[in-house]
Amino acid sequence: MSEQQNNCQAGPKTGDTCCGAGVTTLVVACSGGSNAGQVSNNIMIELDRKGVGNAYCLAGIGAALSGFIESAKAARTVVIDGCPTGCAKKAFEKYGIVPSQYFVVTELGVQKAHDFSRLSEETSVVMKSVLENL
Ligand code: SF4
Repeated sequence: MSEQQNNCQAGPKTGDTCCGAGVTTLVVACSGGSNAGQVSNNIMIELDRKGVGNAYCLAGIGAALSGFIESAKAARTVVIDGCPTGCAKKAFEKYGIVPSQYFVVTELGVQKAHDFSRLSEETSVVMKSVLENL
């Protein structure tokens, strides 16, 4: 795979990494296929908007792309999983990365379901807890 194919945004000289490369704090969400997973994704976006850190690609780590892994190792990381299955945390563990801060959506007032009708409200509930504990 060429460096350019291995790179979602940055220029070709930066290798297999993404828009968060070189950033001090990276925010990573499981972004799973449930309300809880999508709340985790919303929290990641909101933390990026608030300047807490840069949203980052868990998929790059899951795909074992070295640039993504090395950037995550070098950064402070805030990881948000949707449920106790902990997919994002487990993806980190494969490469010996321990999240600097870790949140699980279902431990913060949201029950997991395949129901995306209340994402905005559920995100607000979880965001309040996350901000209080950052
Ligand atoms: S942590 Fe839970 S919600 Fe997130 S991807 Fe894994 S199983 Fe899905």
